[in-house]
Amino acid sequence: MRILKFGGTSVGSAEAFARVAGIVARAKEEDGNVVVVTSAMSGVTDTLINAAKAAAAGDETPYRDARNELLVKHQIVAGQLIEDGVERAALGRLLDEKLREFERLCQSIYVLGELTPRGLDVVSSLGEQMAAPLLAAVLRHHGVDAEAVDAREIIVTDDTFGAANPILEETCPRVEQHLRSLLEAGKVPVVTGFIAATRDGITTTLGRGGSDYSAAILGACLGADEVQIWTDVNGILTADPRIVPNARTLPELSYVEAAELAYFGAKVLHPKTILPAIERNIPIRVLNTFDPDGPNTRIVKEPAPVRTPVKAITAIRNLALITVEGRGMMGVPGIAARTFSAVARTGVSVLMISQASSEQSICFVIPAKDVPRVVESLNEELERELRRGFIDHIWSLDDIVIIAVVGQAMRGTPGIAARVFGALGEASINVIAIAQGSSEVNISLVVATTQADEAVRRIHDAFELHRVEELWAPAMAEA
Ligand code: ASP
Ligand code: MG
Repeated sequence: MRILKFGGTSVGSAEAFARVAGIVARAKEEDGNVVVVTSAMSGVTDTLINAAKAAAAGDETPYRDARNELLVKHQIVAGQLIEDGVERAALGRLLDEKLREFERLCQSIYVLGELTPRGLDVVSSLGEQMAAPLLAAVLRHHGVDAEAVDAREIIVTDDTFGAANPILEETCPRVEQHLRSLLEAGKVPVVTGFIAATRDGITTTLGRGGSDYSAAILGACLGADEVQIWTDVNGILTADPRIVPNARTLPELSYVEAAELAYFGAKVLHPKTILPAIERNIPIRVLNTFDPDGPNTRIVKEPAPVRTPVKAITAIRNLALITVEGRGMMGVPGIAARTFSAVARTGVSVLMISQASSEQSICFVIPAKDVPRVVESLNEELERELRRGFIDHIWSLDDIVIIAVVGQAMRGTPGIAARVFGALGEASINVIAIAQGSSEVNISLVVATTQADEAVRRIHDAFELHRVEELWAPAMAEA
């Protein structure tokens, strides 16, 4: 059994819908049991949310405009891809009903002048409620016996509106019962991504981009052989192709490596959203709807060994490096703890930490926009040490980038750091700070923004990651 999840751009236009229909039809032929999960059409969730926010702020125009815009957007697809008059009329009624609900909701938000997280979830869930029936109808027109399923009937969550947490013990029996009978009848369920409901039937959402989460939940409950995430790029690449023109699709990655890349800002699946699949050890594949036979990435627990310790390089931007420095810190316990509790109080998360064993400075990286808050909090916390001269100063270095070099096989392979730094040295790129987690899955280094792109290219070249076919030959032979 396969779960096929299609993101917003994959259902962004009539042309895209037609491609999706071809992909689903083929999957159904290859593997009788296919479950589809769909996002809202691209841009729809944003439009819904913005209109509701504007209504709360006293502006009625956006939701009135959105209503027509959304109607047209969905109707164009139906008009181009569905010939059957009865199907089209039924869809027309459904769209009308959902958009009336949207208008009613926005009206009350406007009157109340307030938008609660609970109310926002109801509004933002409407995109998927329109997309799934539309996709099911398109599939039927392409000869695939599909049926739309509202995930609120099967996915049960807590009531953390806007980022609800699935309750698998209650979800799985419903998924089993509802979807299994459809599958047994030879149908393809088309499930709304992103949305769910509490035990009491109150609408929730799983957080922005949450359709991946929905797919992972269904995959875990049904014990799928694979969860496929269909998007608009060829899987996960060795580096950002805008920076490294010869970046290539990674054939295989481990869950841990994928998580590491996501934490470091690469546009990959968020680890939280694929956790249910990881827990049940279900492979995840990231594929391109617009290049279905092109390269794609498989994410598994234990990838086959490859001929490179490094798999990918990613850069995270808009950061600053904060340094707390002073000779008087040496051997004084508690400075690090107090430094980080002062940061924690601001609610800012720290991306990387580094302290030399001389203990004369601690430095760490935070988002650039948070510098004033963090520095203020540190100055307060360490006021006494500063006054007494134990700490000389607290300062921030802006315009820096973290480069993360990721690969599980770096663990236990000597000489990787030397190759990374050698490559940077040759290019006269100055490394400002370094950190390696003890997991050894990731070497992180800080460089100036002006040298970041070159640094990524140099490391990519040093490990010859463009030669992906050769480096991954053993893994590909096994797949
Ligand atoms: N439509 C939702 C969003 O835009 C969920 C998703 O696309 O995964 O966030
Ligand atoms: Mg997404």
